[in-house]
Amino acid sequence: MNQVPRGYKTVAADPAADAGAILTIDLGAVRKNYRRLQARLGGAKCAGVVKADGYGLGAVPVARALTQEGCDTFFVAHVGEGVALRAAIGPGPSIYVLNGLPPGSEPDAIAAGLIAVLNSTEQLAAWRAAARQAGHALPAALQVDSGMSRLGMSPAEVEAVAADRHALDGIELKLVMSHLACADEPGHAANEAQRIEFDRLRALLPAAPASLANSSGIFLGPAYHHQLARPGAALYGINPTPGQENPMLPVIRLQAKVIQTRTVERDAGIGYGHTATAQGPQRLATISLGYADGWHRRAGAAARFDGVELPFIGRVSMDSIILDISALPESRLKAGDLVNLIDAEQTIDDLAGSYGTIAYEVLTSLGHRFHRIHVGA
Ligand SMILES: *Cc1c(COP(=O)(O)O)cnc(C)c1O
Repeated sequence: MNQVPRGYKTVAADPAADAGAILTIDLGAVRKNYRRLQARLGGAKCAGVVKADGYGLGAVPVARALTQEGCDTFFVAHVGEGVALRAAIGPGPSIYVLNGLPPGSEPDAIAAGLIAVLNSTEQLAAWRAAARQAGHALPAALQVDSGMSRLGMSPAEVEAVAADRHALDGIELKLVMSHLACADEPGHAANEAQRIEFDRLRALLPAAPASLANSSGIFLGPAYHHQLARPGAALYGINPTPGQENPMLPVIRLQAKVIQTRTVERDAGIGYGHTATAQGPQRLATISLGYADGWHRRAGAAARFDGVELPFIGRVSMDSIILDISALPESRLKAGDLVNLIDAEQTIDDLAGSYGTIAYEVLTSLGHRFHRIHVGA
């Protein structure tokens, strides 16, 4: 086999030219979404949830954009995410680690100035021990389970903490928080039940700022705002009010590149399994994006070019999808052209509907091969 010469470029000098698809992330829209949420929150503070690399859109660029709007509080899920974010955004902002700290990660968390979310008596004891060892108090949020049964101290554990004078020794209590299970269903009885339970539990604990609302929780009204809200989804353009018009601005556009076009004769089998057959002479284009890029294989959809809808035809392949381009004038679409897959006409919420999932999963599944462009910083 021939050796690749040193210095040989395997990709084009322009990464956008080499990429099969281009994901444009509008940080200006993220900032406007933050402003809209902050306006709705009135006097309560608005944090930014940037876990899972900012829902796939880039935790660092998103956090930097939010910082410019005055956001000084961020939430990640893992310690590693917090350490990386701290290195990128500097020492000022608060960074909370939602899943808490796995045993052994305390020194890294302390060095990065992260705030542990304490979800259990075990996590509380470990953070107290770390404070003793460090010789100074360590910052923490206490999460209580107000009725989701996922993370957080049970009511019995909260009562035990409240009864033990030394339970919070060495802990600088920054926040008492809980998470809503049904916030995207405003009529669900669990919302008020959780709010009442949260307010009861936090009253047992030393006074600290409180936080209950995620994106959808903000739209449940001021009783859910407390001192700090923790939106993620809405910042990224996901509709926090399903079934109603989306109050947020779209943030992403996904465009895929045409690899080749062709005309096939009537009865030609199209794609794997020949699940489609040409109904007459038919013009097709193959685009450079497939299920390996997070596009669900089973979901039907269409691309758009020049405002014309180009339906998918046949099966979605790993790295490509075939489009029926018969609706376009001949030779209008050529290899190298970009077609839109996610835009204002086909939103992440629309795709989630056709995939049978939620837009959160659409965003966090977006492929790693896309050339990402951040605009509006
Ligand atoms: C992910 C998460 C959020 C953000 O939720 P969105 O629905 O994306 O706004 C807030 N709080 C906790 C505890 C979370 O896990």
